[in-house]
Amino acid sequence: MNEIEKFKEKLKDKGYKLTTQRRVILDVIMENRDKHLSSEEIYDLVRLKYPEIGLATVYRTLQLFEELGIVYKLNFDDGRNRYELYHNENHQHHHLICLKCGAVIEMEGDLLENLEEAIEKTKDFEIIDHNVKFFGYCSKCRKSYN
Ligand SMILES: [Zn+2]
Ligand SMILES: [Zn+2]
Ligand SMILES: [Zn+2]
Repeated sequence: MNEIEKFKEKLKDKGYKLTTQRRVILDVIMENRDKHLSSEEIYDLVRLKYPEIGLATVYRTLQLFEELGIVYKLNFDDGRNRYELYHNENHQHHHLICLKCGAVIEMEGDLLENLEEAIEKTKDFEIIDHNVKFFGYCSKCRKSYN
């Protein structure tokens, strides 16, 4: 099953159809999968393909996609909701956020298993998941910084 069919199934399971509007929004997110677009950025790109669409529809659709596990909503503390496609891993990757240019870099690999183990041992706390953001300056910004 390809990706779009999987998403179609997720909609169908809950009684929704992949309408043209939903398809256009999904296409934009899929075409920009590493960009962590905000809802407004998604709206601007969707409008190029589907000029009649309203911002409220885009908001509503993103909310629906989030509920159905098609996208993740990300919050990088920059006052925007950003979205990315749901990855088929059981755990979301981590993000590095540049405080100067706002670049969002994805971190592959988790590397936090040892920390989780230490917490579980010392605090007698069963960890289900974690959500980590790293803030700092990207290499481009550090070059112009010095
Ligand atoms: Zn930067
Ligand atoms: Zn990401
Ligand atoms: Zn992790």
